[in-house]
Order: sequence, then structure tokens, then C-alpha cells
Amino acid sequence: MTTVCQDHWDRMRRAIDDRGLGALVPDSGELAREVVARELAGERSIDTFDPLMNAFFMIMSKTLEYFGPWVLAAADEHRSGCLLCFMNEKHEHECKGCDLPTVKAFDHWIDKAADASKAEWLKRAEAP
Ligand SMILES: [Zn+2]
Ligand SMILES: [Zn+2]
Repeated sequence: MTTVCQDHWDRMRRAIDDRGLGALVPDSGELAREVVARELAGERSIDTFDPLMNAFFMIMSKTLEYFGPWVLAAADEHRSGCLLCFMNEKHEHECKGCDLPTVKAFDHWIDKAADASKAEWLKRAEAP
């Protein structure tokens, strides 16, 4: 199961809080799982919106787009078990020059994902 480390999770949480969406994050893991299950079943409403999970799924889908599915399995096996740590480390070692910062190249995805969560929330809140 693809995940991120505590440090990256905390940063995602902070990015969500910074955008005023902190109160929308379910208080318990149980509730969060229920909300995700309903969302995956096709219910997309303000009741099933978890901005933190939304940001995480955004990062996962960007990862798939950018690298391909093998990265998720490779990140699971990485000692950090963290998708972002894995990609950052891989990039730091293998980059031959690109627009990304050499170190912590993918941390900026957190802000982008949080922005996307905010946009998704506004869209849902405005829907009739
Ligand atoms: Zn990490
Ligand atoms: Zn690079």
C-alpha cells in the first residue's frame, strides 16, 4: 500500500491547514476510510471530500503520470516506505539536469496537490 512518511504527511497536513481546509479532514482513521470508500464508489459530494486524501491521491496520480506504475511498488520496498522520499532520493542520484531542484525535487508537489484540493473543494461547494 503506497503511503508517505510521517514527515511528508505532516507537511501535507500543514499545506491543507494553510488553505483553510483543515476542518474538513476526518478526525478518525475509521471515518477517513469510510469517506474514501464512498468516494471510490463514485459518490463525489462535499460529504465525501477529504482534502488530505484528495491531495495524496493527486500526488499518486502525478507519480503514475510522471514515472509509471513501477514506482509505487519500488517506493513500498524503499526503506522509508515513502513515495516522496523515494522519488526525491532517486532524482537526487539520477538527475542529469532538469528544471526541478536537485534535492527534495518533488516536495513542491505537496503545495500543488493542496492547491488542487482547494480548487476541488470550491468546485464541490458551489455545485447545486
Ligand atoms: Zn517522506
Ligand atoms: Zn532533475
